[in-house]
Amino acid sequence: MPFEVRYHCQRCTACCRWPGQVKVGEAEISSMAAYLGMTEWEFVQEFTQVRPQRDGLSLINRENGECIFLEGRDCRVQAAKPVQCQGFPNTWNFPGWREVCEARPELVGGVGKGGGN
Ligand code: SF4
Repeated sequence: MPFEVRYHCQRCTACCRWPGQVKVGEAEISSMAAYLGMTEWEFVQEFTQVRPQRDGLSLINRENGECIFLEGRDCRVQAAKPVQCQGFPNTWNFPGWREVCEARPELVGGVGKGGGN
């Protein structure tokens, strides 16, 4: 019977402090702007930059590499955070992530017909 490991976020914020890019698309910008009570234009001007690859926008980071929306141990846009943030570490991760991330593993089994959540 197939099993897979799913990791449950413990809100340690390691991924938010990891230097890198959080890609954001139109729908995500719209959601975060609405959540913060801003227009999309204001949000783009204040919180995004063109990706080095010039293929879209990403959130800006602070000088120490952490995300602009990290406040202590909380994400300022938690309820509207980007898909990339929601997926870590299950849909993507970075080399050495297990040494800094406190997510707890759980074996999920019995994936059958029509499975999924
Ligand atoms: S948007 Fe929120 S969850 Fe995503 S990296 Fe920034 S602080 Fe972390």
